[in-house]
Amino acid sequence: MNLIIMGIQGCGKGTQAALISEKYDLDHINIGNAFRKNIAQKTKLGQEVKAYIDKGELVPDSYVYGILDDAISQAENGFILDGFPRNLEQLDYLLQKYTIDKVILLDLPDEIAIRRISARRNCVKCKKDYNLIYNKPKVEGICDVCGGRLVQREDDNEATVARRLQKFHQETAKVIEKYRELGLLYTVDADQTVDEIFQEIVKIIS
Ligand SMILES: [Zn+2]
Repeated sequence: MNLIIMGIQGCGKGTQAALISEKYDLDHINIGNAFRKNIAQKTKLGQEVKAYIDKGELVPDSYVYGILDDAISQAENGFILDGFPRNLEQLDYLLQKYTIDKVILLDLPDEIAIRRISARRNCVKCKKDYNLIYNKPKVEGICDVCGGRLVQREDDNEATVARRLQKFHQETAKVIEKYRELGLLYTVDADQTVDEIFQEIVKIIS
């Protein structure tokens, strides 16, 4: 079984992908993480990609495909793909080589995503993550673990998040439309608890 999970930042897709990966024994392929792993392990692909990043250049799609193919070749029992494809060209590449069974779209209104993301805080010392909505520290502004100060990442402020979400919608609108045409698209309301969302996904997959 090969799945795609998608949704705007803050929709909880990383958490759901991990749960699905475990329950159905699928490889969770996150393209961003696969890039970082190749770079950290200094693979041939990783070193070539790093050269582009170091020069501040955009990594060509051929490398994205290389990383994707490599990750998929290691997925013996199928995969759940996260963060790919971002545009119709990437989708064409994927569909020419692989069969996709279902696409799960975690649907969350932008204003809720912005509220969730701008509530993120993170310890300056030990880097532990908090969220002022559902994972608050015991004492306001202070890390439970090390007593460090909690701060907001610069790119988690409302204006930056809103711009990022807008870019995501522009990029993925056509991809989502294509999934709909192909009859692959299943939409889940992401404004629910982790468990409720997961139960809905299980019903879709099973
Ligand atoms: Zn800390």
